[in-house]
Amino acid sequence: MARGSAARLLAPARALFSKHYGPELPTPFLGGLRHFAGLARPKEEKEGWRDIMEKIRNIGISAHIDSGKTTLTERILFYTGRIHEIHEVRGKDGVGAKMDSMDLEREKGITIQSAATYCTWDGHQVNIIDTPGHVDFTIEVERALRVLDGAILVLCSVGGVQSQSITVDRQMRRYEVPRLIFINKLDRMGADPWKVLEQARHKLGHNCAAVQIPIGLEGELRGLVDLVQYKAFYFDGVHGEKIIPDEIPLNLASFATEKRRELIEVVSEVDDILAETFLNDEPITSDDLEMAIRRATISLKFIPVFMGSAFKNKGVQLLLDGVVNYLPCPIEVTNHALDQTKNEEKVSLSGSPEGPLVALAFKLEEGRFGQLTYLRIYEGTIRRGDFMINIQSGKRIKVPRLVRMHADDMEDIQKAHAGEIVAVFGVDCASGDTFTDGSVKYTMTSMNVPEPVMSLAIAPASKDMGGQFSKALNRFQREDPTFRVGLDRDSGQTIISGMGELHLDIYVERIKREYKVEAVVGKPQVNFRETITQRAEFDYLHKKQSGGQGQYGRVIGYIEPLTEGSDPKFQFENMMIGQAIPSGFIPAIEKGFKEACNSGSLIGHPVENIRVVLTDGAAHAVDSSELAFKLAALYAFRLCYPKAKPAILEPIMLIELKAPSEFQGPITGDINRRKGMIMGNDQEGDDCILTAHVPLNNMFGYSTALRSMTQGKGEFTMEYREHAPVTQDVQMQLMNNYKKTKAAE
Ligand code: GDP
Repeated sequence: MARGSAARLLAPARALFSKHYGPELPTPFLGGLRHFAGLARPKEEKEGWRDIMEKIRNIGISAHIDSGKTTLTERILFYTGRIHEIHEVRGKDGVGAKMDSMDLEREKGITIQSAATYCTWDGHQVNIIDTPGHVDFTIEVERALRVLDGAILVLCSVGGVQSQSITVDRQMRRYEVPRLIFINKLDRMGADPWKVLEQARHKLGHNCAAVQIPIGLEGELRGLVDLVQYKAFYFDGVHGEKIIPDEIPLNLASFATEKRRELIEVVSEVDDILAETFLNDEPITSDDLEMAIRRATISLKFIPVFMGSAFKNKGVQLLLDGVVNYLPCPIEVTNHALDQTKNEEKVSLSGSPEGPLVALAFKLEEGRFGQLTYLRIYEGTIRRGDFMINIQSGKRIKVPRLVRMHADDMEDIQKAHAGEIVAVFGVDCASGDTFTDGSVKYTMTSMNVPEPVMSLAIAPASKDMGGQFSKALNRFQREDPTFRVGLDRDSGQTIISGMGELHLDIYVERIKREYKVEAVVGKPQVNFRETITQRAEFDYLHKKQSGGQGQYGRVIGYIEPLTEGSDPKFQFENMMIGQAIPSGFIPAIEKGFKEACNSGSLIGHPVENIRVVLTDGAAHAVDSSELAFKLAALYAFRLCYPKAKPAILEPIMLIELKAPSEFQGPITGDINRRKGMIMGNDQEGDDCILTAHVPLNNMFGYSTALRSMTQGKGEFTMEYREHAPVTQDVQMQLMNNYKKTKAAE
C-alpha cells in the first residue's frame, strides 16, 4: 500500500489528568476560568469535581497526510513541557516525532495504532489521543471518536481541504465532535489561508470564520493578529517559545477590523446573545466574543479557524489557548451507555466522579511490561487496588497498577476520575470492553459486533515462526473484535477475516513488521453465507449393522427460515412428545445439525437464519448412541437442505462518495455496472455526494477505479450494511466455481 494512499484520520487525542497540577509554562494570555462564565451555571451549584472537570480537554488532532499533524503534536508537547527537544518529523536526524511510536506508522505515514498522551496548558489537562484513520477500521475509528470531546482539524494552507480531511470531518460530524481548524504551513510558498477557509465553507459545509489573521505570509510570516483579543502576537526565542504581545501593525488595522466584523457576523447568526449585542450596536468586548465562540463551537454551530506554522513555531500556543477556550470539557458533552439489563437501552451518564464506575477500554498495547489497556472513565473513580467487573466477559479484575501515558513514558498514579484517560496493566480484556464497579451493567459500545465481510488464508512462510505467528494473531484478535481468526475445515489453513481488503492488509503487514514473520497469503474472499427460504421436512434413519455394535438413530422433523435479525442465527427446538428418542441423545442431534450448518452444500459457506425442529424419531435399545444420532442429524440435514430452497447471501456495503459534479455520469454508470443501487444524490457546492448500496464482491479495486474516473478528485467510504440474497445468475456462477474447485481438490 503506497504511503499516500492510506486514508488517514488523525489524531484524536486525550489523556488524563490529575487533581493537582499547576501551569507548567507561563500563560501568554487568556488566563483563568473566565471563559466558563458563559456556561451560566450558578456558582453555588458547582461542586469541587466540576471545577476539576472544567479543566480537562480530551482532544484529537486530525489531518490529511502531510498537513503537519505530527509536527504540530510535537510542538504542542514541547510548549507544554512534556518534551524538552524538538525533533524534525521524519527528519534528517532520524529520531522522528514522539507521537509516532511505531516504525510502520513512521514509514507509511499513517497512524494505525493510537498513542495517548497528556500535557497541561494554562492550568488545564489537555489529553491527546492518536487514532487510526482509515475507513476500513470502522470500529477503531468509532471507538476513538467516542473517547474525544473535541478535535483540531489541521489543513495545509497550500493543499487546502483534501480528500482525507473530508472523510475525517464527516466522521466527526457524525459523532458530533466539536472542532477547531488550524490552517498550517503559512510559511510555505503559495500559502493562502483565505482560500482554504472558503474551501472549509464550501467543501466541508462549515459555518466558520477566522479568529486570527497572519502578519506576513510565506517567507515573510512574522506573527498573528488575534481578532478576539484584538492584539498582535510574535513568537521569539529559538523555538518560538517567547510570546510577545503587541499592538496591531498599522498596515493591518483595517483588514483586522473587517475580519473581526466578519467573525462577529458569522457567530451572531448562531448565537442569540451575541446577536442581540451586535444588532443593538453595542460594543462587543473580547470576553463577549470569546464566550459566544465557545458556546457556538460546543453546540456544533460554528468552527473557529486558527492559523500558523507548526514548523516555523508560529501560532501553536494560541491554538492551545483555543483548545482551552473553545473546546468542551468532559461534562459539557453528553455520553451514553447501553444498559445490558434493558436490551441495550440508552442511558445518559452524569460524568460525576462520585457515580458508579463506567470506563471503556478503547485501546490495547503490548507494552514493555505486558499488556497495557487504555481506559476512558465516563463516570466514577478508579483507585489502584480496586476491583472492577468487565461487563463483556463477566470477570472481576483487580487494578494492580494505574498509570497515565505519555507516548512511551508513563507515570504511576493512585486514582483517576471521570473525564480522565488512564492506562492499566495486566488486565485481561479486549478493546471495546466496558468496566464498572458491578453496581450497573452498562456497556459503552454495543455488544453486537458486525460479522467480518472478507477473509483470506494465511500461513507463516517458515514453520519455525509458528509461535510468533500465533502470538500476533492472538493479540490482534483481542485488540480488534472485527478481526477474527479461524481454521478452514477442509484445507486446515488459518483464515483471517475482517472488514475489508485494507483492514486485512494492515494486519498482514504488522505480522511482518512487529513480529518479524514472513507470511504467505491467499486471495481475499468475500464472506458469503447461505440460508434457506422455505420449510422442508426430514425423516432419516441412520442404521448400520455390520458386525459388533450397530448404529441406530432416526430423526424426524423440519427446518425452516428464521425471520431476519433473529438471534442466535441457528436455533434448535425439541418438540417431541414422549420418549421416542431418549433425552440423553438430544444434544448430539443438535450438535449434528449445527455442524452441518457450518458448511452449506451450495458453496460451502455457513448456513444462517435457520431453525431446526425435532418432532419425532426412533431409537434402538442396544445400537443407539450419541454418534449414531449425530450422524443421523448430519445426513438428515444434507438431504432436506436442497428441498428448503437454499440461497446465497452476500455482504452489501453502504458507499458514500464525493466527487466534482462533472464526474457524476461516469461514477453512476460504474456503480450500476457493479450492480449497485444509488440511494441518495446530493449537491454540496461543486461536488456531488452519492450514497449507494453495492455488493462487496463487486468492489475489489474500487479506489483505483474511482481515482482514474475522477482524476484523483473523488473519495469514498465504505461500511458493511447487511447480507442480502445474490441474483440467480450470480448464484449459479458461484455454485459452478465451487463445484470446479471441489473437483480439482
Ligand atoms: P503529518 O503527515 O500530517 O503528520 O505531517 P508531518 O508533521 O509529518 O509533516 C509533513 C511534512 O510537512 C514534514 O516534512 C514537515 O516538516 C512539514 N511541515 C509540517 N508543518 C509545516 C509548516 O508549518 N511549514 C512547512 N513549511 N512545513 C511543514
